[in-house]
Amino acid sequence: MDMQVQGNSGAVEMPDRYDFIIVGAGSAGCVLANRLTEDGTRNVLILEAGGRDLNPWIHVPSGYFTTMHNPSTDWCYKTEPDPGLNGRVIDWPRGKVLGGSSSINGLLYIRGQTQDFDHWRQLGNAGWSYADVLPYFKRSENQERGADEFHGVGGPLSVSNMPIKRRICDALIDAAEEIGIPRSDDFNGGNQDGAGYFQLTTRNGLRCSTAVGYLRPARKRRNLTVVTHALARQLLFATGDRLSAAGLEFSVAGERRLARLRPNGEVILSAGAIGSPQILQLSGIGPGALLRENDIEVRHGLPGVGQNLQDHLQIRMVYEVNVPTLNVEINNLFRRAMIGVQYILTRRGAMAMGASQVCIFARTRPELETPDIQFHFQPLSADKPGLKMHSFQGVTLSACQLRPESRGHIAIKSPDPEAYPKIHPNYLATSLDQETAVASMRLTRRLTETDAFSRYLVKERLPGYGAQNDEQLLEAARDISQTIYHPTSTCKMGRDPMAVVDERLRVHGVKGLRVVDASIMPTIVSGNTNAPTIMIAEKASDMLLKDNAQASVAS
Ligand SMILES: Cc1cc2nc3c(=O)[nH]c(=O)nc-3n(C[C@H](O)[C@H](O)[C@H](O)COP(=O)(O)OP(=O)(O)OC[C@H]3O[C@@H](n4cnc5c(N)ncnc54)[C@H](O)[C@@H]3O)c2cc1C
Repeated sequence: MDMQVQGNSGAVEMPDRYDFIIVGAGSAGCVLANRLTEDGTRNVLILEAGGRDLNPWIHVPSGYFTTMHNPSTDWCYKTEPDPGLNGRVIDWPRGKVLGGSSSINGLLYIRGQTQDFDHWRQLGNAGWSYADVLPYFKRSENQERGADEFHGVGGPLSVSNMPIKRRICDALIDAAEEIGIPRSDDFNGGNQDGAGYFQLTTRNGLRCSTAVGYLRPARKRRNLTVVTHALARQLLFATGDRLSAAGLEFSVAGERRLARLRPNGEVILSAGAIGSPQILQLSGIGPGALLRENDIEVRHGLPGVGQNLQDHLQIRMVYEVNVPTLNVEINNLFRRAMIGVQYILTRRGAMAMGASQVCIFARTRPELETPDIQFHFQPLSADKPGLKMHSFQGVTLSACQLRPESRGHIAIKSPDPEAYPKIHPNYLATSLDQETAVASMRLTRRLTETDAFSRYLVKERLPGYGAQNDEQLLEAARDISQTIYHPTSTCKMGRDPMAVVDERLRVHGVKGLRVVDASIMPTIVSGNTNAPTIMIAEKASDMLLKDNAQASVAS
């Protein structure tokens, strides 16, 4: 193949050629690295901008509060000032380490609603209905409760019951029941409705990231090369009639390297909802005007690259209660030490818990077919996740709208791959999103005013009872809300003009190039995004292997 390589002066060639080059060893990338090397016949390279997952806090579930906002494990992105948040700039953590965001996330195991995937199918994406994707959720899973119609055992991703239960958490579940929200002990069966404890992606009290579950067992395979601290810079293309990926230029500790594909090989971008559109834009695939503004040659105009950004915004309401919460335990040196001892001896207790304990899926309008909001409840409180806990006995009840209408975008601001792109989340931009925010805050208060919960309630600390009418509540939402870390859909799957990949996750108009990560979701799922991203990669691995085998027979 005739190669045309840009900007490669002094770049070092990787000695091998690869059937698959995967960019990003996150939730999706580690799944691919495992599945694509399983039968030993394909040569695979995976590049990760972060380092190895050696920091012990990655593996301790509560270490989430330590690894987030830590530049050795988190990209530490910040958004642009967001009009929907009264111009605030907010933190957007993303994992920068083997395992990606699955190494620093809150460990909550939620798949989304069956209707989410049926909707993807309804948009024209053959093969993505709930019935189509359920086998991949099951294949990935090692469910502590055993296998059934909806759950699998023996998969690489361990899913466990919440190891800590508290009176105040039970009270919230009772409160939900009191206002007509049923109890649920499985949000991942066919019906998501209800209130109960989350399940966690843990194994024996330790985090089960995709680096642990998928990459670790594959690392000794001779056909897998893992390069850490490797920043993808741009794609390489072959000359010919049709634009075709030929490899990738990346850098390790300032040294430029080139990795090239074998015939019928493919580059797979699994760099996440920020990284994948950034790499496409840097490579000349994206909105023409944006690329020209940044002095990048337009190789393929694809207006949807970086557009359609969706996220779950959490409105974090903080309450003071009259029973001890983790604030008291963590702020006291002796009690903190006892939590540590308990964890070392039993792998249980506060250090084994995920980012939240109780989950409630509810409706702000009774006429809705499925829940439109999700509550996350924590028996602790702080000004922001990851900051020092309050000195009072606090709990946090946060509400997220599950299917926001607002759309943001990601845009490079320089041709330099090390420069972070601009993140415009554009929260609370539509009237539905604003009304849902206000209604969800009212529902939060209703929960705290029930007989079951109010016996523990001292007062609302955030936003405080000063916010009463709709305008005041919306203003408060704009002031206190944060991301719940679920950016998706910036390289959406579909066939319309704004789609970036087709239903086999091939980039429209480019041969040998796919995107496999949370960015391909046409619409954000109604729940946390790690499990569905892993499902996407499980399904993609089957498509990649099948297409590669067919292409090899044909050539
Ligand atoms: C703090 C936090 C808490 C969360 N909590 C939960 C939760 O409790 N439950 C849940 O379901 N979801 C949660 N999520 C969301 C979930 O983890 C993500 O949706 C999911 O991990 C996304 O997977 P991904 O493969 O798309 O991207 P990632 O897992 O982020 O992987 C992308 C990888 O690509 C690498 N990369 C990026 N650019 C480059 C480049 N140029 N060159 C080389 N490598 C690159 C990154 O370093 C990263 O390792 C949370 C996320 C965060 C950040």
